[in-house]
Amino acid sequence: MLKTYFLLIILSGMLCRLAMAQSYDIVIKGGHIIDPKNNIDADLDIAVSNGKIALISKDIDPKQGIQVVDAKGMYVTPGLIDIHTHDFYGTQPDHQYEDGNLGIAPDGFTFRNGVTTVVDAGSSGWRTFPTFKAQTIDVSKTRVLALLNIVGEGMRGGYEQNVNDMDPKMTALVAKRYKDIVVGIKLAHFEGHDWTPADRAVEAGTLGGGIPVMIDFGGSNPPLSIEELFMKHLRPGDIFTHCFGQLGSREYLVDLQTNKVKPFVFEARKRGIIFDVGYGGISFAYSQALPAMKEGFFPNSISTDIHVGSMNDAMKDMLICMTKFLAMGMSLHDVIQASTSNPAKEIKREELGNLSVGSGADVAILSVREGKFGLYDYTGYKMETNKKLECELTVRAGKIVYDLNGIATPVYPPKNVARSKQAALKGEDH
Ligand SMILES: [Zn+2]
Repeated sequence: MLKTYFLLIILSGMLCRLAMAQSYDIVIKGGHIIDPKNNIDADLDIAVSNGKIALISKDIDPKQGIQVVDAKGMYVTPGLIDIHTHDFYGTQPDHQYEDGNLGIAPDGFTFRNGVTTVVDAGSSGWRTFPTFKAQTIDVSKTRVLALLNIVGEGMRGGYEQNVNDMDPKMTALVAKRYKDIVVGIKLAHFEGHDWTPADRAVEAGTLGGGIPVMIDFGGSNPPLSIEELFMKHLRPGDIFTHCFGQLGSREYLVDLQTNKVKPFVFEARKRGIIFDVGYGGISFAYSQALPAMKEGFFPNSISTDIHVGSMNDAMKDMLICMTKFLAMGMSLHDVIQASTSNPAKEIKREELGNLSVGSGADVAILSVREGKFGLYDYTGYKMETNKKLECELTVRAGKIVYDLNGIATPVYPPKNVARSKQAALKGEDH
């Protein structure tokens, strides 16, 4: 009798393991998938296994999933990509965004927004990148990529005016050494009436293997011509961030006399210049964005320029930025595209930002909440909307890393699964 009992236990254990082997780690059921890269905009289920997208199909048996997510009434999208963030937090006094107290730990703001990949926009330069990598990139669950500042020290406040520390060769060398993480070059905040910094950034991008440059065009008195920047200094594929900014020291896209986008801006877009939101503290104004949207001039990518200032001001977070573009008339499909496959393409990492079978399982599940919401910019101009994007659940590298309302069953995976997921996450390259 005892023997039979033990035999039964062993047998049921074997059967259990057999069943587990056939299962997916996660099955997401009943959601509406928007995957712009693959032209999917339909009610479909999705299965995740071993850190990868395993299957997208009309009706996946929930019994096949170790965890099953009820996404009824929700949108299932690729994990969001925010290509303008500041993640090099640290303790150096007066270092601002470079190892200072204005940067933020990415895992603290990403997953709760459906963001699975961030690009740090030039907080570090070639001299400080190794510290940034050890301190932030290597220890984050979020995939952290980087644009290297053309300034060797990075975004260390007033030091950014130091043209002598803008070395294209050293910047390119470090970019190439870390080419799995460094996806481009950044120039920011330069205030001189001088093209040298922009030209050196572009030179670093070219020497670095043809990687793009992101320009935060600083400000100068009198302002430098952005037409000249777009048509003569930048290459196709280079990125103009803060595209809807309106500051006195910098030329802007919309002519305030005519309330129209300046004609050369359309020419620049045709030439391949990329227009990125980079919302930030004072780098987005409705007085620029609304007329541009009216003419159908949508941004190529939506990004936050998140730091301790902007996140507590009008910007807030990625989903609020996306909500603002919805409220201004962009379709949900286009908003998702500008936050997934478009930014992936801009940084030449097209394996990201999609839900293709076999690709890394980074997934966002979003709800559109109905209510009364106010969306203001830093000038105090306010729009009202009745629809707001909210993140319900985030999967990063095949693992649920955020679940607002516990829509996964079971909420936590069995222990052995959790361990194998952790291994999968460690095995993920950046
Ligand atoms: Zn920035």
